[in-house]
Amino acid sequence: MDMLNDPELAAFRDEIRTFLSEHLPDELHRAASRATSVFMDPAVSLPWQRILNARGWAAPDWPEAFGGPGWNEAQRYIFAAECARAGAPNLAPMGLKMVAPVIMHYGSPDQQAHYLPRILSGEDYWCQGFSEPGAGSDLAALQLRATPDGSDYILNGSKIWTTHAHFANRMFCLVRTSNEGKPQAGISFLLLDMTSPGITVEPIRTLAGDHELNQVFFDDVRVPQANRLGAENEGWSVAKHLLTFERGGKYAPGLIGRLERLRAQAGLDAVQRARATREAINLRALQALEIKAMRGLGGSTALYASALKIMGTDSAQRIDSLACDIAGHAAWAEADGQTSAELAIAVPRYLNDRAASIYAGSNEIQRDLVARILLG
Ligand SMILES: Cc1cc2nc3c(=O)[nH]c(=O)nc-3n(C[C@H](O)[C@H](O)[C@H](O)COP(=O)(O)OP(=O)(O)OC[C@H]3O[C@@H](n4cnc5c(N)ncnc54)[C@H](O)[C@@H]3O)c2cc1C
Repeated sequence: MDMLNDPELAAFRDEIRTFLSEHLPDELHRAASRATSVFMDPAVSLPWQRILNARGWAAPDWPEAFGGPGWNEAQRYIFAAECARAGAPNLAPMGLKMVAPVIMHYGSPDQQAHYLPRILSGEDYWCQGFSEPGAGSDLAALQLRATPDGSDYILNGSKIWTTHAHFANRMFCLVRTSNEGKPQAGISFLLLDMTSPGITVEPIRTLAGDHELNQVFFDDVRVPQANRLGAENEGWSVAKHLLTFERGGKYAPGLIGRLERLRAQAGLDAVQRARATREAINLRALQALEIKAMRGLGGSTALYASALKIMGTDSAQRIDSLACDIAGHAAWAEADGQTSAELAIAVPRYLNDRAASIYAGSNEIQRDLVARILLG
């Protein structure tokens, strides 16, 4: 990265590197290297979050006023790159990266004071209740009904594909509060307690055999109206704000680390080496675009968010295919204890990552958004 020509940033990089070498426990490093999903189990992500939080580094993107470290964009990118290089666990994005920025933007001072410190410490673990059986790409079709009753809403309906709902004690949720006008106009954004009576979480097992998804049922669930973020029927704007944080981000650091580990495996044939080299070049381009987006050098935030989501997830899936080809039979032979972690997880990771081009809004929808922004 060219920015490392700056001596201050190079010193910052060294500080992070030293911290990681001294504080990342072996067992968390090992567990992260065996993770088959970007959504790591909270038994792995939360201990690491607590270690980072003790140093003030759990939320690099947060403003200092809310507990962020006060880093500039370049420092934040370097931090992400160094964490990926060291093989540190991914932190769950639902609280730190998704709902926190909207609480900062739309939340009342009371909501900010209540929720943000609990997100930082990991005391609250969040899930995202947007999709429903009849509302995915067409999210505005959502029907989970919230009926006012005194100072509460009463919720009935269901959410689906809810990542880590079985771990979460909080959900940020889109609900229908009106059927008047355009579908987008009758949606509100609620913060709710997953232990509320009437909530049932049912597991959905994926192709890869993982349990990270759920369907969540709401049967006369009471939620205080004070838990609404933003005005009633204006939740669509809150959701759109949140989605730019869900889609944008830093794909390149983690993918560069993965690709480097694959290239270091013994026995790559000439074609595999050429594929790895081509992907390394793609990742350089992705990294350049991420740095440009981070510095706000032209183009809309929404355009970058969609473009980076497409490029990052397409690249992840190409790397998955390459990993499976390199692994061959080794991927199935983990029991002999000889297979490297990278190859041992190649197939489950490939299967899990099929979803990457679907979640956070499918890549087809992102291409539509890019076209609409660029072509008007
Ligand atoms: C692993 C995983 C985790 C998820 N986690 C969460 C979560 O935590 N919380 C949550 O709320 N949701 C979550 N989702 C749901 C995700 O956001 C939706 O699956 C996604 O938005 C697509 O919606 P859908 O599944 O209903 O597919 P559909 O909308 O039915 O789409 C089916 C296919 O048609 C294509 N398509 C649809 N409309 C168009 C169009 N206009 N133009 C071109 N192609 C189109 C889509 O690209 C897709 O290929 C998750 C999904 C997955 C797979």
